[in-house]
Amino acid sequence: MQYLRDLGIYDFYRRDTQLAITAAPEELPIPVRKPVPVQPPVGSFVAPPSRAEALRAIQFEIGDCTRCALSAGRNKIVFADGDPNARLMFVGEGPGADEDAQGLPFVGRAGQLLNNMIAATGLKREQVYIANIVKCRPPQNRTPEPVEANTCSQFLFQQIDVVRPEVIVALGSTAATYLLGVKSSLSGLRGRVHKCRGTKLIVTYHPAFLLRDPRQKKEAWQDLKLAMAELGLSVPSR
Ligand code: URA
Repeated sequence: MQYLRDLGIYDFYRRDTQLAITAAPEELPIPVRKPVPVQPPVGSFVAPPSRAEALRAIQFEIGDCTRCALSAGRNKIVFADGDPNARLMFVGEGPGADEDAQGLPFVGRAGQLLNNMIAATGLKREQVYIANIVKCRPPQNRTPEPVEANTCSQFLFQQIDVVRPEVIVALGSTAATYLLGVKSSLSGLRGRVHKCRGTKLIVTYHPAFLLRDPRQKKEAWQDLKLAMAELGLSVPSR
């Protein structure tokens, strides 16, 4: 514990197992816990030079995790990839087969498309931070169960608090649901700026969905342009 304090990490959340239903009953059915309220920056702020080490401390805390049932079927825990000081963060749903084999997020077909989307903004993949709601592959790539997502996302929230990106892009409705703490349709969430742990959050389509329905790529590009505008960065002309 002292080691983590030395790294500037003071806030640890133990989530109780009871799930709060926050969406309107007719909107359900995923019970979602409200994200833990943003802590005051005093104490929880990790200075940029210490962020890589603070992230390693979170990874150390996760360890050889068996906190939920997904651990039984995983090969590798997929912690994250990218710059610990990134201004832009992408959050997906959970690892697929390629990610489970390599231990890195978005390295399969959907990852290729995400790489292209990032490149279109003029940024490099190494400049952003990429993570998922759950760090272990769900069987048959099914959507994570609420208990799995709520158990695992406490670590994602710690990662967000360390990296302190200026903008988070939620890829798909599972990421949006657990980052925002409410379940809503993607169409209702896209096109505006939300807040997650004090950070601006923009919702777009999951790259795997865009592979199935490439006509929506234009819409996803609008979302990425909004993210870049919020960062005060211009995108290369296409
Ligand atoms: N889909 C996700 O949501 N995350 C990954 O890392 C890969 C595919």
